[in-house]
Amino acid sequence: MNQDSSGNKTKFVRVWRQLDVEEVKKQLLYIDDLYGTCGSCKKLGLNYLKDKNCPDCGSVFKYLATKLTQPGEIGKILSRIQKEGLDLTLIERADFERSSAQDAARDLFKS
Ligand SMILES: [Zn+2]
Repeated sequence: MNQDSSGNKTKFVRVWRQLDVEEVKKQLLYIDDLYGTCGSCKKLGLNYLKDKNCPDCGSVFKYLATKLTQPGEIGKILSRIQKEGLDLTLIERADFERSSAQDAARDLFKS
C-alpha cells in the first residue's frame, strides 16, 4: 500500500475537466508563490491563504493558476490548500490561457 506518514492514502492526480472559461476568469487568482494577482481586475499582492475574495472588485476566488511548473512547487501549493481546508482548485495555467486564446480567436471571426 502506498501510504504516507500521515496515514493519508490520497494522492494528487491531475484530472481533465471541462470548465466554463468565462466563469473561471471571474474566479481566478494568478499566483507566483504565496502572493497573487486577481484575474478580474489585476490587483496585486493577494494572499491565497487569506484573501477569499478580491478587496477591490469583490471576485470570490475558486481557482488558482500558477506559472510554476516544478512538481515540488506545485506540491507545496496543493498541500497548503489541503492543510488549510480551502475551497480552491488549482488549474493548469497554460491550458487556461490556450482556452481563452481560442475563444478570443473565435470571437475575431464572428460577424
Ligand atoms: Zn479584483
